[in-house]
Amino acid sequence: MQNQDISVKEIDETRQGEALEMVAKGGSGKKLYIESYGCAMNFSDSEIVASVLIDEGFETTKVMEEADVIFVNTCAIRDNAEQRVRGRLDQFRKVKKSKPDMVIGVMGCMAERLKSKLLEEEKLVDIVVGPDSYRDLPNLVRVAESGQKAVNVLLSREETYADINPVRLGGNGVSAFVSITRGCDNMCSFCVVPFTRGRERSRDPESIVAECTQLLANGYKEVTLLGQNVDSYLWGGGGLKKDIIARGDLTGTVSFAELLIMVAKISPELRVRFSTSHPKDMHDDVLYAMAEYHNICSYIHLPVQSGSTRLLELMNRGYSREWYFERMAKIKEIVPNCGLSTDIITGFCTETEEDHQDTLSLMQEVGFDFAYMFKYSERPGTAAAKKMEDDIPEEIKQRRLAEVIEIQAKNSHESNKKDLGKTFEVLVEGTSKKSEEMLQGRNPQNKVIVFPKENFKKGDYVNVLVTDCTSATLLGTAVK
Ligand code: SF4
Repeated sequence: MQNQDISVKEIDETRQGEALEMVAKGGSGKKLYIESYGCAMNFSDSEIVASVLIDEGFETTKVMEEADVIFVNTCAIRDNAEQRVRGRLDQFRKVKKSKPDMVIGVMGCMAERLKSKLLEEEKLVDIVVGPDSYRDLPNLVRVAESGQKAVNVLLSREETYADINPVRLGGNGVSAFVSITRGCDNMCSFCVVPFTRGRERSRDPESIVAECTQLLANGYKEVTLLGQNVDSYLWGGGGLKKDIIARGDLTGTVSFAELLIMVAKISPELRVRFSTSHPKDMHDDVLYAMAEYHNICSYIHLPVQSGSTRLLELMNRGYSREWYFERMAKIKEIVPNCGLSTDIITGFCTETEEDHQDTLSLMQEVGFDFAYMFKYSERPGTAAAKKMEDDIPEEIKQRRLAEVIEIQAKNSHESNKKDLGKTFEVLVEGTSKKSEEMLQGRNPQNKVIVFPKENFKKGDYVNVLVTDCTSATLLGTAVK
């Protein structure tokens, strides 16, 4: 996941920088303002942070100027993600001028990547806290309020925040993220995530089922199980995962497919999605679980990154072009109507025109419904940055990205055209952005469908006949 590709469920631009609002518990009444950037894992973490500080009596505000404490949850996946945060810090600086006691904190992957160096580079910052240290926030805030700088960027092999009940923030009240793993053991050579989120650990399945059951009771109709690489989820069995797998005895363990079924069995009313999958670890038992349980949505986000086996080896992705096609064939065999999306990086070190053509031809052959597409951005500390030269000129990276985006736009539109005349079960997420008279939701394949409101409302399941489409959206009418 989330590599150059922010794969964990990409949070759309409209939510980047979202400020959070929550119900306050009695207490210090100090005001907390949190701004989140990056992937779904970060948005999910901000809900953990909110819960930790509300337990300390904080109230929250969406008005930065009202805040006593400001936290920005950051992404380090590409350089421009970090530049964006530095831009926000400039805004905070202006506000702090009128409120000198205000405490400014930076959390998330950029905090973990830069550690106390961030305090030197950004004098405004009082707290630097990494993704595994959010339990320590009450203490860090107290230190900062006493006028000192506070840093905690310790990474953990155990921490999953399983016992912390996230406070649901922003979002649509219908669909919620539930993290199932933290960290990543894959060392894709371009990716900073293993350095900013640490070693992979799986969360207790009972706590995941409890959180999903609570969400359903609170009116949510969909959960997205989150992890950098959900396919390598493995709980229990005593000892380290690699030893369990090495010994081949999975007694007492819970695999990802088994976890999916545990969550699907909560209620047929609760839709189950997951992100992000990994081609080398995605086993058929996950596909059979999707085929058996109607409420496990038939949609898979499977980052390929490149269509060239030579580049996939340099990226240390752990699979070849042929392996990826074999996985695609299995998906189409076991879950025939499965929606498919992916991640593509153009301009990775030593990428030739031939490698690039391999990527284009793979996209053509698979026909993804959707893709996240980026130019390679060298990240300090990664294997690629240490061992490979970032040798593809910017204009070539840009030209290749444009060609990838062009093919995907055609494929997305072709894929939507194939849905004309079909009826899908849509979970309504709210009114459409364009008209109060229209509702929008997604079908099991994760495609957005817009249709006239009639008497339907948010949270309803509605059968919608597709009558028209664009490359991004399906349009339709409700049918019985
Ligand atoms: S190391 Fe690879 S699998 Fe892990 S988050 Fe990064 S890109 Fe995804």
